[in-house]
Amino acid sequence: MKIVMLGAPGAGKGTQAINIAKEYDIPHVSTGDIFRANIKNGTELGMKAKEYMDKGALVPDEVTIGMLLDRISEPDCKNGYVLDGFPRTIPQAESLRKALTEKGDKLDVAVNIEVPDAVIEERMSGRRACLKCGATYHVVYTPPKKEGICDNCGSELVQRADDKPETVKARLATYHEQTQPLIDFYKKEGILKEVDGTQSPSDVFKAVMEALS
Ligand code: ADP
Ligand code: AMP
Repeated sequence: MKIVMLGAPGAGKGTQAINIAKEYDIPHVSTGDIFRANIKNGTELGMKAKEYMDKGALVPDEVTIGMLLDRISEPDCKNGYVLDGFPRTIPQAESLRKALTEKGDKLDVAVNIEVPDAVIEERMSGRRACLKCGATYHVVYTPPKKEGICDNCGSELVQRADDKPETVKARLATYHEQTQPLIDFYKKEGILKEVDGTQSPSDVFKAVMEALS
């Protein structure tokens, strides 16, 4: 199963992608997580990505596309993957389609998680992230069992630098301008499924599973 998660930043893509990955036993590939791991390790790629991420802008396609195509050609992606945060631009979607077509392959489903901007701002201000395993929590909606500690791996949770209200506004603007057009792109491809993301995480997951079946 090859799945793309669409939706605004904070819509719940990561939360659901982790569930889908478990259910189908496929890797959860998040370009945001890959960039954050590179920032943490002080790599050149991380330093370049940080410049853009801190402003709420997208990391340039020249950097992002190659990185993602390399990641999905690793052996664990042989039987599929769930992409979270990629594609975010039409050129990224076209490059992915081209790379898959060259191998006689294609995406199965693009799931769009719909959440209004006002709800997004509240979700992102309460988001806490585990930089080690990629799990996300919300201080009110989905708190960890022990405050500040990841249920999955026991690491300390952090508030992401780009979840500050000013940066969230910029990220939403970037989303509407550059990423939202992908909804039509995948509608035209005939693989788009829409899910109401304002429900509880478990109800969103039920709706996602129906969309994938
Ligand atoms: P994305 O990956 O799309 O940026 P996340 O999965 O990180 O979004 O979710 C953003 C925030 O909203 C997190 O704090 C997460 O715990 C919380 N969240 C996710 N899904 C829901 C939901 N259905 N209801 C309430 N809060 C949610
Ligand atoms: P995310 O974790 O998906 O919210 O991504 C965090 C940030 O990483 C984004 O705001 C972008 O700056 C950058 N990023 C993640 N994925 C991409 C992508 N596919 N293209 C460009 N930038 C990205």
